[in-house]
This record gives sequence, C-alpha cells and structure tokens, in this order.
Amino acid sequence: MVHFSDSLSRLLAELQKLPGVGEKTALRLAFHLLKSPDNAAALADSLRDVISRVRFCSVCFGITEDDPCRFCSDARDDGAICVVEEPQDLLAVERTRAFRGRYHVLQGALSPLNGVTPDRLRVAELMKRLEGGGVREVVLATNFSVEGEATALYLARMIKPLGVRVTRLAHGIPLGSDLEFVDAATVQRALEGRSEL
Ligand code: ZN
Repeated sequence: MVHFSDSLSRLLAELQKLPGVGEKTALRLAFHLLKSPDNAAALADSLRDVISRVRFCSVCFGITEDDPCRFCSDARDDGAICVVEEPQDLLAVERTRAFRGRYHVLQGALSPLNGVTPDRLRVAELMKRLEGGGVREVVLATNFSVEGEATALYLARMIKPLGVRVTRLAHGIPLGSDLEFVDAATVQRALEGRSEL
C-alpha cells in the first residue's frame, strides 16, 4: 500500500468522485497535473470561477449564469415544455433547432434501487409549472435507459390528469443511449416523430 502526502491523497479522493474515474485514472490525472503546474492552476481557477458564476435556473433548473436562464426568458412557445434529465440533454435537444418551447431539467432519473425517488428530482417544480396553466404539451425527452423510460412513464401518469398532452420522443434513438451523445439529426427525427404516451 503506497502512502501519499495528505494533499495528494485529498486530490486523489476528489478525482475519484468524478464519474468514470477509478483509482488508476485518478493517479494518472493527478500526476499529469503535477507535471504541468500552470495547467493545474488554470484548471483550479476555472473551477472556482464556474462554481461562483454558474447556478441552476430557478425556473427550469438548467445551468445558467443569469437567473432565469435565456431559455426561460427569451420569446419562446410557453405552451410546450420539453423535460430532460440533465442540462447537457437540454443542449442536445436545442442543437436540433426543432423545438421552440420551454425546458425543464429533472436533474436525474428515477432509480429507486439507488435511492433516487421522485422527491430527489425536480418533479414537484415541474408539476407546479403545469398547474399554473397555459401548457398544452409536455415532451418527455428522458434518456432511453431503464431509468429514463421509468421516469417518462411515471411523469406521464402524473401529468395526464391535468389534461396536458404528453408525448415521448420516437424510438429512432438507440436503446440505452444518453441523449447528449446522440447526433442532432437523430434527435431531431425523434422529436418530430414523437408520439402520445
Ligand atoms: Zn431556465
């Protein structure tokens, strides 16, 4: 068992909290940073900067420097809300230029086994927006994973009683895929071919 200094141990521990980073990758990243102190300092600065400036939009819960964000404050169609899991999924839909409504970011997907229940997501905030009236369609653009599908079905059951049309992206999107990694043309086709849930 190798013992690192306290500061290096702390860096390794923090790196391993990142998605997809295990012990080996953390070591590789840490030594890479140590070899180029200027780059490491720039990284630290940009992290501090982004943390102090970027926040969650109080309306849609996407990431923004201005609250409410531009998707909530620009002139767009108030009658349609596209629901996504993460802020990067919002950008994936936006890249298609096929959707001109508003957005709502759940900040995750239902996963009861991992302790992600509806109260851990921005579901209550979505329902509040819908109860305010004026929304005729909710487009469920959660990922095509087990969790994303379960989330879509759960939301459809919650929303339909409000008399709002609920649609789901067409299944042109490969099963198990994250929206953010699907090319814009495929997302656009899935959006245009969306069907009622
Ligand atoms: Zn917003």
